[in-house]
Amino acid sequence: MIANKYKILVIEDEDNINNLLKALLETYGYQVITAKNCQNGHTLFTSHRPDLVILDLGLPDRDGMTFLKQIRQDSLTPVIVVSARSEDMDKVDALDIGANDYVTKPFSSAELVARVRSTLRNSRHSSEEGRFPGGKFKSSGLLIDYDARQIFIDNAEINLTQTEYNIVALLSEYSGKVMTYAAIIKAIWGYNDVYSTKKLQVNMANIRKKIWCKARTKELYRQ
Ligand code: CA
Repeated sequence: MIANKYKILVIEDEDNINNLLKALLETYGYQVITAKNCQNGHTLFTSHRPDLVILDLGLPDRDGMTFLKQIRQDSLTPVIVVSARSEDMDKVDALDIGANDYVTKPFSSAELVARVRSTLRNSRHSSEEGRFPGGKFKSSGLLIDYDARQIFIDNAEINLTQTEYNIVALLSEYSGKVMTYAAIIKAIWGYNDVYSTKKLQVNMANIRKKIWCKARTKELYRQ
């Protein structure tokens, strides 16, 4: 079997579910590493830089929410919470802290794999590793080189910060479609807090200053 490029960290203390998830995801070609508590999970997260984390909440040493809070301080790596807790408030809390999705146990294999796939797809743009799809985007005088993470207007490179670049690349992917602030914030930062909208507005203002006048970026940004 040809392994796909994605590495998934499973943090789950129940042996049977841990084994099931590993076997299931490996069947689909994912590389899987597993931990059975928060501390080991955190060590593996730091050393392996997984593309996605599947996180149980009821773990022996600490609550999975603690792990999520901890990694969200400086990481946008997508996290799917898999938990027996089916209360709405638990889901809301996990999503608020920055979980990308929430699956309630018991779950079907097909559902879990579908969630993994869609979460990886949706988070491509928010990865701090810059794993953007290859190729280029062209519109009028605007050229985005996704591999080089460079943006050119009429062949002149525009200097953008990492975040500004991520926003423009995201908007280019959804060119012509309406994107809400909330969707952009979630894709770029992975979480939404009281400062998010302001943060996005400041970044958008800077992007406009740098390129708006020179290119028809309106085509990319229809609010
Ligand atoms: Ca558990």
